[in-house]
Amino acid sequence: MKRPPVDHPDAMRLIIELSSLYVACDDCGHSRNLGVESLRKAVDLGVHSYMQLCRKIRCSECPKGLPAFRNLTIRPTWRCDEPRYSIA
Ligand SMILES: [Zn+2]
Repeated sequence: MKRPPVDHPDAMRLIIELSSLYVACDDCGHSRNLGVESLRKAVDLGVHSYMQLCRKIRCSECPKGLPAFRNLTIRPTWRCDEPRYSIA
């Protein structure tokens, strides 16, 4: 009895499929790139899907207590989209 996810094609993909995640705040201009280690920490905290991760992400520079929806630009890089090393 699962409810359909948000209509984002990547919403139900897993964080472990990500190789990195670029997050930019349009409000203050702060940007960061989450690498595999940061993503793994999120998994340790119980976040598993890309959709959950997007909900968790906040700008670390903007003051807290403001409405949850900041103007964040989130750009994922998926492992399978990266060129693979060919084994000779
Ligand atoms: Zn910000």
